[in-house]
Amino acid sequence: MHFVNAHTHRIPCRDEIAVVNLDKDAREVPAEGYWSVGIHPWHICADTLEEELQRLEFFLTLPQVVAVGECGLDRLAKAPWPLQLVSFEKQLDLARKYQKPVIIHNVRSAGELLQIRKRIGNLSPWLLHGFHGSQREAELFLQQGCYLGFGKHLFNSKSKAAVVCAMAPIDRILPETDASEITVTSVIEKIAAIKEIPVSDMLKQLLDNFRRLFVEDHFKSV
Ligand SMILES: [Zn+2]
Repeated sequence: MHFVNAHTHRIPCRDEIAVVNLDKDAREVPAEGYWSVGIHPWHICADTLEEELQRLEFFLTLPQVVAVGECGLDRLAKAPWPLQLVSFEKQLDLARKYQKPVIIHNVRSAGELLQIRKRIGNLSPWLLHGFHGSQREAELFLQQGCYLGFGKHLFNSKSKAAVVCAMAPIDRILPETDASEITVTSVIEKIAAIKEIPVSDMLKQLLDNFRRLFVEDHFKSV
């Protein structure tokens, strides 16, 4: 059985199927595995944005690039807010054009993200990675067809992540390790415990979720 990892910045272990976030300085994408490519709000620069978007568009033509991201909005990032909005919406356009889901980085921007998703409409599915927002925010994203990614916050007793994970539909959650040192097996075991489901069943369910989000063609049925 394989362990899925929806968002990480490191090369996966054996038996792990992961979407690895391509390093911002990488100039090519390895042929093996699954990759996500995007412009992170921390790394947006007005002078190079067009060039970065062109590079992203080229990468999105590759079959091993299964998602745009991580990208999104970050109230604490240095990049000016209007520039963040331009960068994000251009990446959403590319995601639609190349029919790929989007891995979302969200820092204190849930309201804006939801507004953008509703305003633009007909967007590919989003994975709200590292979700630790409120139950209400989770419900609003779930109503919009989004997925929720859970990782290190599940182990923090002060975080709402475990409560949200407990209530989220089982077919809309995914495990992730992001940039942390935790293993994806520990995250999956934690999710299984929260959901009170045997780990073996959880593995199958998460593999299904992973395939549905990253591998299926989301636009064929539209
Ligand atoms: Zn990340």
